[in-house]
Amino acid sequence: MISPIIDENTIERLRALINSVQRIAITCHKSPDGDALGSSLALCHVLRRLGKDAVVVTPDMAPRSLDFVPGIRDIVVFTQGESRARHALQQAQLICCLDYNSLKRVDRLAELIEPLSAPRVLIDHHLDPDDTFDVSISFPEASSTCELVFRVLMQLGLLRFVDRMAASCLYVGLLTDTGGFAYSCDHPEFYEIVASVMRRRFDRITLYNKAMNTFSADSLRLQGYALSEKMQLFPEQGAALIVLDKAELERFHYNRGDTETLVNKPLAIPEVYWSVFMREDADRIKISCRSQGDFAVSEICARYFNGGGHQNAAGGEFFGSVEDAVALFHQVLADLFPPDNNNEPNNQQTT
Ligand code: 5GP
Ligand code: MN
Repeated sequence: MISPIIDENTIERLRALINSVQRIAITCHKSPDGDALGSSLALCHVLRRLGKDAVVVTPDMAPRSLDFVPGIRDIVVFTQGESRARHALQQAQLICCLDYNSLKRVDRLAELIEPLSAPRVLIDHHLDPDDTFDVSISFPEASSTCELVFRVLMQLGLLRFVDRMAASCLYVGLLTDTGGFAYSCDHPEFYEIVASVMRRRFDRITLYNKAMNTFSADSLRLQGYALSEKMQLFPEQGAALIVLDKAELERFHYNRGDTETLVNKPLAIPEVYWSVFMREDADRIKISCRSQGDFAVSEICARYFNGGGHQNAAGGEFFGSVEDAVALFHQVLADLFPPDNNNEPNNQQTT
């Protein structure tokens, strides 16, 4: 039994909104991942089967590694054609905001969305959502936005429109946002949702391999290099740091997505319970953090790196040199683990 966790009032408001419009735009966060794309495309498929003119608009391109997600070719990508994206949003009578909690997370799409009068529906699992949404379905304890899209469709009585294509999309998010059913999936209902999705009989093994275990040769070599040459361990503080600068990325012909799961790898070491990855991008340094247990990397990212996220998976950015970003990491170590407190971290969780 999958419980109806979304309150009926919210569901009724959403039902009324969907029934009263024809054109619906679905947006997700920049640098879309498997959950952002999977949830957006699944919802889009279902709305189209309902007879709506639905379109997914993303702030930028998804990594090539997600090319296999059904429907990805139909996405309108802002950075590939601003006027198409603007048109799609301006035409929309309803805007769905999936897998992000604040318009800050959609980059320049925010300038397009902000002035529009179309109502906004949030479906998301990040902490602290903004209050700029007309309907807000926010469950930080959910495994993924795909789980929430499934629950929304279930409570709307629309599960019969979840066909093989939509199910494949949902599976991608359920799988990738939990690291292959490893974390954020402790609730038995999660597996009931997986079971229901699997009944749509898509090719699960192929999808698993494409989502979880497909890398280019360059990407594998880059990850090997990063782990062998660049991983620094701080056993006293249970930390690991990997930094890759532009020259290193170029050497391995870096493509977006190539370092996607790298930050998780140091957590395999028993002494390491938090891991930081810094990647020098064109105009900023992208920070990714992962942790185990109650050590909240979201707080570190919010406090030091202009970002946020989930307790065990968070990110942010740093504007400055690689050296300064590394110096800030050392500052984090010094702040959280002052020499006289027996290396008990100073950020015991509130979340
Ligand atoms: P990743 O390390 O895979 O880029 O991001 C992990 C999680 O951290 C994302 O799901 C998102 O919740 C959060 N995150 C990543 N980058 C940022 C950022 O720049 N700002 C905020 N607020 N959250 C981020
Ligand atoms: Mn997500």
